[in-house]
Amino acid sequence: MSENFDVIVIGAGPGGYVCAIRAAQLGMKVACVEKRATLGGTCLNVGCIPSKALLQSSEHFEEANHKLADHGVLVGSVKLDLARMQARKGEVVSANVKGIEFLFKKNKVTWLKGAGRITSPGTVEVDGTAYAAKHIVIATGSESIPLPGVEVDEKRIVTSTGGLELTAVPKHMVVIGGGYIGLELGSVWRRLGAEVTVVEYLDRLVPAMDLEVGKTFERVLGKQGIKTKLKTKVVGAKTHAKGVSLTVEPAAGGAAETIEADIVLVAIGRRPYTEALGLKEVGVALDERGRVVTDAHYATNIPGIYAVGDAIVGPMLAHKAEEEGVALAEILAGQHGHVNYGAIPGVVYTWPEVASIGETEEQLKARGAAYNVGKFPFTANGRARAMGDMDGFVKILADKATDRVLGCHIIGPDAGTLIAEIAIAMEFGASAEDVARTCHAHPSLNEAVKEAALATAGRALHI
Ligand SMILES: Cc1cc2nc3c(=O)[nH]c(=O)nc-3n(C[C@H](O)[C@H](O)[C@H](O)COP(=O)(O)OP(=O)(O)OC[C@H]3O[C@@H](n4cnc5c(N)ncnc54)[C@H](O)[C@@H]3O)c2cc1C
Repeated sequence: MSENFDVIVIGAGPGGYVCAIRAAQLGMKVACVEKRATLGGTCLNVGCIPSKALLQSSEHFEEANHKLADHGVLVGSVKLDLARMQARKGEVVSANVKGIEFLFKKNKVTWLKGAGRITSPGTVEVDGTAYAAKHIVIATGSESIPLPGVEVDEKRIVTSTGGLELTAVPKHMVVIGGGYIGLELGSVWRRLGAEVTVVEYLDRLVPAMDLEVGKTFERVLGKQGIKTKLKTKVVGAKTHAKGVSLTVEPAAGGAAETIEADIVLVAIGRRPYTEALGLKEVGVALDERGRVVTDAHYATNIPGIYAVGDAIVGPMLAHKAEEEGVALAEILAGQHGHVNYGAIPGVVYTWPEVASIGETEEQLKARGAAYNVGKFPFTANGRARAMGDMDGFVKILADKATDRVLGCHIIGPDAGTLIAEIAIAMEFGASAEDVARTCHAHPSLNEAVKEAALATAGRALHI
């Protein structure tokens, strides 16, 4: 055995690197195995961070083209330098991944470079060298789900990874899958000049979203020029010199139709990635969807082997992975790490943004809960008016008997930031009245959250 560790984490995404840092903070000797050339996992390299860099840049382009004139700012002819935009994205990613390398050094986490494989409980092999560990953490993340008949080449038919790297703006991009990744990337390329069509099998976009918010979202995206083809399935794709011919059919069956695209983005979801990890040989149980099965303390069925993040059950989100990484490190240190799965925000970083936390109205109805609804539109919020961003509303759901906040769903400017105050409220078991009685700065977008809280009791002041 070349070296002994208290903890070896396999995978340096948000689940893995955060678990490694927290375990080191708690005094353990920690190594983190990563086969990618840089740390940070999907999130920092090909996910959250590069997508947000392009969303930010493309929104500036959109503003210059369509929004600044209304503010009296005239910029003349606006040109796109896509090479610079992509280079900037690369710089943002590079600074972030180097930041994790710095944090590893600061916390004395050893980066074992290469692919890790569990050869037995207590042993991880990295490119032929064996290391011993009291605890092994699987944090190997996820990969794009392939679509049969639509062969990804990352040039014409791309996953999100190729969709972030395009060197020319497509004339027509077809996005297969109306989830948040497809809508974010669809928004980027639409703003930069592409015609974008989203093909979705179900009858609505982002199906887990509160229905009322989802309907508004669909309308807003439509107004921006994104076309949607709902209840439609893609059954085949042929690549040719000019692009791709996609064959689609109504989801319920019926006549096929061909759509021509120069780029097709396959964004039908992600699945856990546990390839070549040795899980079968060691006997680690997976569920029917290939997720590592864990108990409430992230322990697998094999003593000493744990798992967190996209590789296990739950929303595939970076912050969920991070919370699990922290909780597990604390459990391994004999503490009481815990994640409140009822209060994990989800954000779509389009503009306007969409953010939600807790239960949707549909979920409350389905479990027969008695609840109050409070809604407040951004058209009645002074700051949103000053910004010129009035699309959307805040909706708060509170228990009818106790007034406890059960959920919040926002479509509007900076919704992803606004939702944080409800995350804290829910963590503290706050009532809608607690939120409503909290002094909110004026003029701020957060006042719409306060007004929605007031509205749960029928006492909004500004509408
Ligand atoms: C385009 C896109 C945009 C996204 N945007 C957001 C967002 O805005 N907000 C959000 O919360 N989430 C977002 N996500 C999801 C987010 O990226 C994931 O939920 C998150 O990265 C999961 O973290 P993780 O640590 O579980 O795994 P990952 O980040 O996938 O990291 C796993 C790491 O393990 C490594 N690995 C795998 N097997 C081995 C092995 N055998 N040996 C060594 N290393 C190995 C991989 O190379 C990888 O680096 C986005 C995803 C995509 C694709």
